[in-house]
Amino acid sequence: MKLDVNVLRYLSKDDFRVLTAVEMGMRNHELVPAELVERIASLKHGGTYKVLKNLLKYKLLHHDSSKYDGFRLTYLGYDFLAIKTMVNRGVFSAVGRQIGVGKESDIFEVAQEDGTVLAMKLHRLGRTSFRAVKSKRDYLRHRSSYNWLYLSRLAALKEFAFMKALEEHEFPVPKAVDCNRHCVVMSLVQGYPLVQVKQLQNPEIVFENILGIVVRMAEHGLIHCDFNEFNIMIDDEENITMIDFPQMVSVSHRNAQMYFDRDVECIFKFFRRRFDMSFQEDRGGSDDTEVDVDESARPLFSEIAKAAGALDKELEASGFTRKEQNDLDKFIEGGLDKGKDSGEEESEDEEQNSEPNEEDLNELNSLQLQEKPSNSNNDKSEVEVDNHEKGQSTGDEDHDETDEEEDEEGVEAEDAELVKRLSKQRRRAMAAVRGGRRNSSRNSYKDKGGRSSQNSKIHKKLKDW
Ligand code: ADP
Ligand code: MG
Repeated sequence: MKLDVNVLRYLSKDDFRVLTAVEMGMRNHELVPAELVERIASLKHGGTYKVLKNLLKYKLLHHDSSKYDGFRLTYLGYDFLAIKTMVNRGVFSAVGRQIGVGKESDIFEVAQEDGTVLAMKLHRLGRTSFRAVKSKRDYLRHRSSYNWLYLSRLAALKEFAFMKALEEHEFPVPKAVDCNRHCVVMSLVQGYPLVQVKQLQNPEIVFENILGIVVRMAEHGLIHCDFNEFNIMIDDEENITMIDFPQMVSVSHRNAQMYFDRDVECIFKFFRRRFDMSFQEDRGGSDDTEVDVDESARPLFSEIAKAAGALDKELEASGFTRKEQNDLDKFIEGGLDKGKDSGEEESEDEEQNSEPNEEDLNELNSLQLQEKPSNSNNDKSEVEVDNHEKGQSTGDEDHDETDEEEDEEGVEAEDAELVKRLSKQRRRAMAAVRGGRRNSSRNSYKDKGGRSSQNSKIHKKLKDW
């Protein structure tokens, strides 16, 4: 999917407000009816329909009238909401080229004001997986109500939490910078995925380092579950950085042994093939000849002693609710456990993506508050000065600035009132529409368009917009 951040320049506060309203509506609706969008957004001067049209034009929303008439966010729309939040928080100010296409993610360079370049990972769960395509499809056939945006958000949240925890325990991982929606910002790893490396100075040392990481992680209570040459980065000094954490599990997971062995086997297999390292196959009996590294060096899950700080427990206690963890695990394990039966007891779980919470309402609210003068300048709060929007209205958009300025006045005073009103309107509207949506499928957030990955040459200053 093309991430044309240029479009952001043409989006007004009302556009973002309506986009956010659709996002909130989607918590309970596969498609959000225009009336509900209007009620949630409650633009001061009306005009929701015009805004919806604009958002459709830029493909931030999708309109669907097959089951009933309504709108849903596209991944692009979701991207923009996350990017805007990040920019407002001052996490970065420019989006650059795409540097990676993962199984279910797109990775871009982003730049801070001072020129520091970071990596932004946008999770795209539900995009066809390169791996385990079939098992996921089988699995998901039984889960038509899955909400990809929700799952992508959980994947990002989990990745961020695990990256942070691993970093704190001095594992070689990128530095976790921030997380919002399906977006994780982290330090940019200087290096290449191991899969691209044809030669190593010291393959044995690299091999041992990598296995050492797997073992030490297990000692800390964690298994990566996708530990392979695609998720290991290596630099010119042959230092290792591991990436990609949404599928990690605890060593107390029922399939922990299998995941652990599989991670280990991936490393053995890769080094055997790529660097001609041979291992004495003293377990299954094999005809392999040379012996460079003794197969008996293979770490055994049963022999790994737990280190004092159990990261799996720490992580369980923070970040996720158990329900969120379960939702994500169910999806990911659908792909991980290839032979797993297909979620037969999983009824249509309408509640997985529950009501918009106070935080959402605040965020929606902040879209109106962003331009208020900020003396406090406190922190990363989303209700803060949005510099780039000031420069945004340069005249080439059909947006009424005067109205907008008027909108801002007195808004602060209405803050609490507005949150209350929104919340009430939303509940009422949702109750009204709920009747018609029970059997609808939510399994439709998949990106349909082809991705043009290399063409995001844009190094666009978001702040200038
Ligand atoms: P997925 O979960 O979709 O597999 P990954 O996290 O593995 O996504 O990222 C996909 C690719 O993006 C990686 O193989 C790597 O080339 C690149 N990448 C990811 N994170 C970073 C980073 N922090 N710095 C540099 N490149 C990265
Ligand atoms: Mg990966």
